[in-house]
Amino acid sequence: MFCIQCEQTLEAPKKKGCAYAAGMCGKTAEISDLQDVLVYTLQGVSFWADLAQQYNIVDDEINHWAPRAFFSTLTNVNFDRDRILELTNLAADYKMRLKTIVIATAKQAKQLLPNLPVVAEFELPSNVDEILACAPQMAVNRGYETTDEDVIGLRLLCLYGLKGAAAYMEHARVLGQTDNAIYAQYHHIMGWLGTDPTDLNALLECSMEIGLMNYKVMEMLDLGETNTFGHPEPTQVNVKPVQGKCILVSGHDLHDLEKILQQTAGKGINVYTNGEMLPAHSYPELKKYPHLVGNYGGAWQNQQLEFAYFPGAIVMTSNCLINPYAGEYADRIFTRSIVAWPGVTHIDDDDFSQVIDCALALNGFQHTEIEHLITIGFGRNALMAAAPAVIDQVKQGNINHFFLVGGCDGDKAERSYYTDFAAQVPQDSLILTLACGKYRFNKKNFGDINGIPRLLDVGQCNDAYSAIQLALALAKEFDCGINELPLTLVLSWFEQKAIVILLTLFALGVKGIYTGPTAPAFLTDNLLAIIAEKFDMRSISTPEADLKTILGA
Ligand code: SF4
Repeated sequence: MFCIQCEQTLEAPKKKGCAYAAGMCGKTAEISDLQDVLVYTLQGVSFWADLAQQYNIVDDEINHWAPRAFFSTLTNVNFDRDRILELTNLAADYKMRLKTIVIATAKQAKQLLPNLPVVAEFELPSNVDEILACAPQMAVNRGYETTDEDVIGLRLLCLYGLKGAAAYMEHARVLGQTDNAIYAQYHHIMGWLGTDPTDLNALLECSMEIGLMNYKVMEMLDLGETNTFGHPEPTQVNVKPVQGKCILVSGHDLHDLEKILQQTAGKGINVYTNGEMLPAHSYPELKKYPHLVGNYGGAWQNQQLEFAYFPGAIVMTSNCLINPYAGEYADRIFTRSIVAWPGVTHIDDDDFSQVIDCALALNGFQHTEIEHLITIGFGRNALMAAAPAVIDQVKQGNINHFFLVGGCDGDKAERSYYTDFAAQVPQDSLILTLACGKYRFNKKNFGDINGIPRLLDVGQCNDAYSAIQLALALAKEFDCGINELPLTLVLSWFEQKAIVILLTLFALGVKGIYTGPTAPAFLTDNLLAIIAEKFDMRSISTPEADLKTILGA
């Protein structure tokens, strides 16, 4: 096993990465190895899909499926051996389907195929032991004994960034948004990475290409969400329990939440959001359901404690799942889509009757706690609507700085930096926030600046797209570049979605971003120095020192 894709990766002496019997996330060595074979087989699929495009062959089924399968290997998503094997076998079938048609088409056109790399020719063995036996050759750091460690680091940056983009492609697809040009680009990059490229410059360029591609993917996802559910609007959300039967919906998939709301209507069940599902309360087509009563719990790393106390059914629609058996709620948690844990009931279609039956059989909350309201819903439209008032306050000197403090949360103690940072931001500054890192401070009262709330919750991690739109609008108004704005991004990373958002920001030319709590372990010191120089990326230190540097105080 070797996995180094997330921030909690192990750091043994002289060796970074989870490389023993299991990872910090609970992924066993067997699951990790099977995921490596899946990723390698998907790289083969993409190699042939890329070649197929050259003959104008586009297979929609494979296009829609491949990023979804790649998403299943993201941190805290799929721990189920059988489901990973099922995906790998399907990948092998799809690869053969593309290979067959490409060879036949080339033959008909009397054209020779290019030299085929190993990844294109790999044939998946038929039994698990043999599949596991070939896993070491498919490890994400394959060839590390003889390859420059910077090359391996950049390959991983590209692979993990592409994985984050694949996750957003899948979220967009669920909402009916697909784009063949993006699938073509995805296959081209994924297939190329399967050939183990060694050119540092080409890999660096590839990482920027992934960042720009992801900008389009986030735009597509934004369109899917707003077309389907309307534009988020400022909304107050109760974060305390209400008496009654209940279902908790976690993850990012708004489509699943809508189906659950439709199917629970009139059944006396209250529906709560958890984690990255919080922004759902601000979408008109979701907030219209009166039984969407509130938000429960905090960020993903607290789920074993918080889910254990939730007296109803729980649905995980996407990342981030952690071992439900440790919290003793495995019999009332359900997985969806690419999420899976062995022994946990998986809902394969849009029928949530098992979840509803489970909720009805459980006690639910016995008491209603005193309401605590927080305000969310500053998505793209709401931000743009507020922009004239914000600009006016900037011109009057009442707003002097903007901070975007957000990203993924995790359980390292150093993450208290973000809570302290938000608390110490001067009163004449606005804080935009997004993703689950905000749970560290989103229940505090930050007050307002002449009616403009000082804390503006933009939404999920992919809603970084909305924050970028605001920055572009401000830059246009003040006739300057984004980097000349009094705007500082202070981001926390945990997994591969955060990696690709960082690549998107770099590719858009955003500089001076503060990141933490630690640097990705797959980046060497040399690569970190290159990134620091190219993008002026800074590591967080202390809130006091960083604020002093940022504000020049
Ligand atoms: Fe380790 Fe993170 Fe990989 Fe899990 S996903 S095995 S914690 S690096």
